[in-house]
Amino acid sequence: MAGHAVVIAGGGPTGMMLAAELALAKVEVAIVERSAAPDPDRARAGGLHARTIEVLDQRGVADRFLAEGKALQIQGFGRIPLDISDFPSRHNYGLALPQIQTERLLATWVQELGVPTTRGREVTGFAQDGTGVDVALSDGTSLRADYLVGCDGGRSVIRKTAGIEFPGWDASTSWLMADVEMVDKPKFGLRPGGGIGPAEGGERIRVVLPERQVEHAGEPTLQEVSEALIAADGTDYGVHSLSSASRFTDNTRQAASYRKGRVLLAGDAAHVHPPLGGQGLNTGVQDAVNLGWKLAQVVKKTGPQSLLDTYHDERHPVGAQVLQTTMAQVALTSPGDRHQALRDIMSELLTMDEPRKRLAAMMSGLDIHYDLGQGHPLLGRRMPDLDLVTANGLRRVFTLLHYARPALLNFGKPGTFDITPWADRVQLIDAEYAGVWELPVIGVVDAPAAVLIRPDGYVAWVGNGTDPGLRESLTTWFGSAMRPPG
Ligand SMILES: Cc1cc2nc3c(=O)[nH]c(=O)nc-3n(C[C@H](O)[C@H](O)[C@H](O)COP(=O)(O)OP(=O)(O)OC[C@H]3O[C@@H](n4cnc5c(N)ncnc54)[C@H](O)[C@@H]3O)c2cc1C
Repeated sequence: MAGHAVVIAGGGPTGMMLAAELALAKVEVAIVERSAAPDPDRARAGGLHARTIEVLDQRGVADRFLAEGKALQIQGFGRIPLDISDFPSRHNYGLALPQIQTERLLATWVQELGVPTTRGREVTGFAQDGTGVDVALSDGTSLRADYLVGCDGGRSVIRKTAGIEFPGWDASTSWLMADVEMVDKPKFGLRPGGGIGPAEGGERIRVVLPERQVEHAGEPTLQEVSEALIAADGTDYGVHSLSSASRFTDNTRQAASYRKGRVLLAGDAAHVHPPLGGQGLNTGVQDAVNLGWKLAQVVKKTGPQSLLDTYHDERHPVGAQVLQTTMAQVALTSPGDRHQALRDIMSELLTMDEPRKRLAAMMSGLDIHYDLGQGHPLLGRRMPDLDLVTANGLRRVFTLLHYARPALLNFGKPGTFDITPWADRVQLIDAEYAGVWELPVIGVVDAPAAVLIRPDGYVAWVGNGTDPGLRESLTTWFGSAMRPPG
């Protein structure tokens, strides 16, 4: 039985991001992916939000994505556009980029990092014991791993086998999504609950429209697309040549726990919701970035097992918030005069700065705040990508995180801190920064004398010139001062 430190079930965006994070931390990891090859006709996410672009920038690969996508103000709430160009981020925009391209770029990166991916085989079950997990594959073979992570999508076999509850809300609406051709050209744009526009990269037309029935046996037929068009526009425009037809619903659920022993869940395996607002892929990628460095330390025995519980504690509330905002958006975009009245009021409210900033920061992921206690506003929030002056010249903060290693930035007198017992794990950098410290929504904050940045780019500790709490924070996040033997 082949042995691995970590086996990831599912090589979608979440699984690949997690594999990259583990590989950067020098943890031996393997992906098992059910499909033999990516399906180019499977239209899903249309882009990346600002915080996802930032986390890719933290790893030095954002340029690959920026080169293929189109930077736009794509954020919205219930189809009401939200501009974030005044946000204090280098990436104060979203990136229009089809999921198939995002997955291809992630796959290339993961391959460069040397992660083996077994395609065309699925995980069918597992059994965990005190020292590891036996992972059963569809070809009758099995793998042994210290940890198994289910990144296997909404119908996750890992979640079901682990017996993790998946409470939430049943579907109230079903949408069909189809690429078609039409004899008469329709007006492109939004319709109540959906829209009609050009399909990616071609002459064809994409139709996304709500359906009368929630339950369906198979994929949408041409007849059903025609009926949905007639319900929306009074004509089917002579629709023909249907391709890549699929359905999605507003089934909205979240795993009760993101961890059961040596088994963890991330991405759609942990949360499902309708695609309004474009949150799913983005949330999954960021789950992976929260989990990767923690799991790496537990596997390497440099960090305590309790780190894995902080993954649930931090990411479950973020997922719950995403569920709430998508349900609100379904209500807002539903057909009918009452919903239109609500949309009109929301549109007016969102022309005001304060509500716009609040919702835009939520939708772009720039407002994420992990509860790491009281203190400076930076605590638990994303570290801004400042231009620092260091002994090695000018450095952007994000470049210090390229190898997913934590960093203690000292803005005070050089030599203020002695972190020798953690020097093998944490970078200590004396830095100068003369500019303003500004956070999305919160605004300008006091310049700290020092900050401890976790590998995921969130601030674990803020110093005021002395170091109370620093050793405790270093121990909590990066293990005890004494390395364990071996
Ligand atoms: C119409 C539509 C539009 C969307 N638009 C957006 C958007 O604009 N922005 C956004 O952020 N999100 C969007 N989403 C959501 C996004 O597509 C998902 O959230 C995202 O794909 C989740 O990534 P994942 O890796 O967690 O899961 P998945 O992408 O579902 O990947 C899971 C992988 O696991 C594999 N797998 C499954 N079972 C097994 C098994 N037992 N063993 C091995 N492998 C297995 C599957 O083959 C798959 O490759 C949209 C979704 C839909 C349907």
